Amino acid sequence: MNYNEKMYGLGSKRSIIREIFEYSKARAKEIGAENVYDFSLGNPSVPAPAEVNEAIANLLKTESSVLLHGYTSAQGDLGVRTAISNSINERFGAGINPNLIYMTCGAAASLSICLKAVFEGNDEECIVFAPFFTEYRVFIENAGGKIVVSTPKEKTFQVDIEDFEKKINEKTRAVIVNSPNNPSGVVYSEETIKALCEVLKKKQEEYGKVIYLIADEPYRELVYSGVTVPYLMNYYDNTLVCYSYSKSLSLPGERIGYIAVNPKMQDAQNVYLCVCGAGRSLGYVCAPSLFQQVIKNCLNAKVNIEAYKENRDLLYDNLTEYGYECVKPDGAFYLFVKALEPDAYKFYEKAKKHEILVVPCDDFGVSGYVRIAYCTSKATVLGALPAFKALAEEYRK
Ligand code: PLP
Repeated sequence: MNYNEKMYGLGSKRSIIREIFEYSKARAKEIGAENVYDFSLGNPSVPAPAEVNEAIANLLKTESSVLLHGYTSAQGDLGVRTAISNSINERFGAGINPNLIYMTCGAAASLSICLKAVFEGNDEECIVFAPFFTEYRVFIENAGGKIVVSTPKEKTFQVDIEDFEKKINEKTRAVIVNSPNNPSGVVYSEETIKALCEVLKKKQEEYGKVIYLIADEPYRELVYSGVTVPYLMNYYDNTLVCYSYSKSLSLPGERIGYIAVNPKMQDAQNVYLCVCGAGRSLGYVCAPSLFQQVIKNCLNAKVNIEAYKENRDLLYDNLTEYGYECVKPDGAFYLFVKALEPDAYKFYEKAKKHEILVVPCDDFGVSGYVRIAYCTSKATVLGALPAFKALAEEYRK
């Protein structure tokens, strides 16, 4: 081969989500988009808040082209980083400062940078909690690490602390926590977070090394029924937060987010410089300038999550009544449903015959489940309900 075999593998490997996406488009042409119940993609259906477009219009009127379209500092505009650190301090009292914030092209870039920043090579390991966002494997391996999967508690999909403790060893360098979770929608309770951090503190002492906690938080703002998402910096010093506005402001195509390094972290400023170095080495310098400024003006803006909540309730209440098993999600916009047969792929194929498109989740580290992304219109959910019912009945026959 005259090219990188590993990259060829990543580029050419069949992705089930991409496959479903292509199928969905083709099927919509055949039978009409309104008759295809596509729950495959985590693309927000709720529009960005009005403040976003207002900010863009105002910025175009009032700011110079050089500011809006030129390079910023590699780590992001200082004014933007100051506004974000003030907002973090107001909300979470984290005592952060702008020189610990690094602007990125969304959570994917934030994660890739953090992993690259902390791995030293030598087969170091990163623990993830199943079910997990499938791209973690790609990001971890690309940073030179090895993924280790911790199995969740049955039914609740909370972290199984005993299993987690067993998975840590002297090679563990990092742990990724994603709550609200993709694909389960579960929010890890404060009790879970406290227990997890206690284990980490104990293991750091035992092995005499730092273990980094990487909080992947694109769904932080998408929570229902007043549930609180613990801010991990307040529970564990060696925490890096990977934040993204992709879901919280419905801006996934704009590629904007940030990394925040906990000021209480051991050698925080040096770790921040590692983040800057990793950003540089990966070519992730200067996140989109216009959107850095937009974010500065929209720090208190919120998407209307009522539409997601309505979809969640409709799906959860009806699907459980039809006999499906799933944990009621407190956040994000995913429902993690047990397939009605052991092989989730076969179940996905049968659902497809009812025009329902869901994602089989074996690659997310839990087999026998599918993910329903309910960031769709309410009409899609309402249209799909009889199809879900018919599918359940087909299995009962
Ligand atoms: N982490 C999780 C858990 C996600 O679900 C996603 C996107 O769906 C990402 C990271 C990547 O987000 P971004 O679009 O901000 O790169």
